[in-house]
Amino acid sequence: MKIAEEVKDAKSIGIGGHIRPDGDCVGACMALYLYLRKVFPEKPVELFLEQPSEVFRCIKDIDKIRTDVMEGGGCEEDFDVFIALDTVADRLGAAEPLFNRAERTINIDHHISNKGCGTVNFIDPHASSTSELVFRIIEEEKLDKEIAKAIYIGIVHDTGVFRYSNTSPETLAIASKLVAFGFDFSEVIEKTFYEKTYVQTLLLGRALLESILIMDGKCIVSGIEKKTLDFYHADAKDLEGIVSQLNQTRDVECTIFMYQTGVLEYKVSLRSKGKVDVAEIAVYFGGGGHMRAAGCTMNGTFYDVVNNLTLHIERQLKRAGME
Ligand code: 5GP
Ligand code: MN
Repeated sequence: MKIAEEVKDAKSIGIGGHIRPDGDCVGACMALYLYLRKVFPEKPVELFLEQPSEVFRCIKDIDKIRTDVMEGGGCEEDFDVFIALDTVADRLGAAEPLFNRAERTINIDHHISNKGCGTVNFIDPHASSTSELVFRIIEEEKLDKEIAKAIYIGIVHDTGVFRYSNTSPETLAIASKLVAFGFDFSEVIEKTFYEKTYVQTLLLGRALLESILIMDGKCIVSGIEKKTLDFYHADAKDLEGIVSQLNQTRDVECTIFMYQTGVLEYKVSLRSKGKVDVAEIAVYFGGGGHMRAAGCTMNGTFYDVVNNLTLHIERQLKRAGME
């Protein structure tokens, strides 16, 4: 698929990504936004995303994102084409009605749980990231330093800096073309991926210290309550990276990390080292994701959530001959 071909007749183009956008979502949306504005300067192109973490301010035109609409401002505009990136339509947040009202819709994603919700779908669960897919659908000769940087950031985040098994030879080949544009890739990795604020460091410390091992050490569990987030004046963006740090624990097969989002409500992040398919579990509870990284929202107390999840994890470990 070449995206320029798909949207060439559209008078206006909308782009959206999932709520609580992560690095891949921000990178993919920004890269496509910059590219479409460059190729079709005469067309209105608008990007709708919740406010990304401030670490992504190094991406050109990040301040052009229509966060107003996402914060409940509403939007009367209609778009000829609406493109949903890194998600299914029902996680577009306040942009979902814009997607539903658009004449044509395009869905670009790499989540195995996404069966495609657009008029046109480009879903490849083998791709490292949606940003990698964005690289594939734009014309290489139109790439520039700023677009390359946005794509690179997305790939870096979803591959854990080229570490996870979703990194393929193609991912690395694309990354090499991107760094050739000459942006400071080392600084981009340091500033957007590794660097933490002091509050983030404290929250990571608490989550590690308060973690518990269950299922004979095969599963590690931790969580952050709302009152703790409030105490530190922190939000979900300050919890990035905690789940992968927990999952690095030796002999752990599977990690559950959750933070409280409301009364008896938790946003759950799941990670696996490969034996447990966490996408299957997340989908069962109304969420989604990948085999080794998935998430969902669950109701109940912290322990209700743990109990409901471990039932499924145990079943899968048994299936893998590990119990
Ligand atoms: P994380 O744990 O980092 O929030 O998410 C891990 C992966 O699962 C990401 O690819 C993310 O998009 C996906 N994911 C997390 N929560 C949900 C959810 O509630 N629904 C769906 N469909 N996917 C989710
Ligand atoms: Mn992604």
